[in-house]
Amino acid sequence: MKLRILGCAGAEFPDFRPPAFLIDDQLLLDAGTISAVLSEEEQWNIRSIFITHSHLDHIRAIPALADNIILRNMQHTVTVFSADEVISAIQQHMFNDIIWPDFTRIPSPENPVIALTTITPYRDYAVHEHMVQAIPVNHTVPAVGYRVQSGGRTLVYSGDTGPTVEIWKFCSGADALIVEVSFPNCMEHLARITRHLTSSMLKTELSKINVLPSRILITHPKPQYYDDIQREINEIGVHGVELLCDGSVYDI
Ligand SMILES: [Zn+2]
Ligand SMILES: [Zn+2]
Repeated sequence: MKLRILGCAGAEFPDFRPPAFLIDDQLLLDAGTISAVLSEEEQWNIRSIFITHSHLDHIRAIPALADNIILRNMQHTVTVFSADEVISAIQQHMFNDIIWPDFTRIPSPENPVIALTTITPYRDYAVHEHMVQAIPVNHTVPAVGYRVQSGGRTLVYSGDTGPTVEIWKFCSGADALIVEVSFPNCMEHLARITRHLTSSMLKTELSKINVLPSRILITHPKPQYYDDIQREINEIGVHGVELLCDGSVYDI
């Protein structure tokens, strides 16, 4: 499974882009960054996008992708999947003909550029050669993480979450876990009220996993505290933990 990090930051600065993880060139987990880093051909390869939650830093690149597609081909559909509340929010607040044209009805409702599709948590969905399952997590809005399986390999992505339970059952023994750490340890109060994690909170979360994943890739750090978070992640002393960088590519 090829994993390309289009963005993995918890805020936007030069060289720090919002989260988006491209799998095998065609399946995207979150859509914080697309056309800022992908060529037109690479954008064309994306046929399915799985969104964790409705916060802007995870959905913001979808409107520009829709615009880029329709300029070239009216017969191309990208399907955006997520839980019911997330899909409703994207339709109501993004593709509402006010903030952006309703690309779920352009060029026609039968063959739109963007198809919004509701998925049910804990159910497996076959997309291309991948099986994808959504698992609820704990954030300030309805949110899910994802487990992606392909060719005998398993990747789990937490999305944004505070302390949680269910998703840890699904990443026991996985090949890779992408998990958030947004704040340094000194900002734990802010992490808790905004339902994010610090490094020390992550250590507690990892203790809930029976068999730790081979790789634990950290996403969503606030760039202003990148160095502090890097140091604190090293200090938790768990094997295979690594702070992600935009642009990295992994063979999972
Ligand atoms: Zn969020
Ligand atoms: Zn976020």
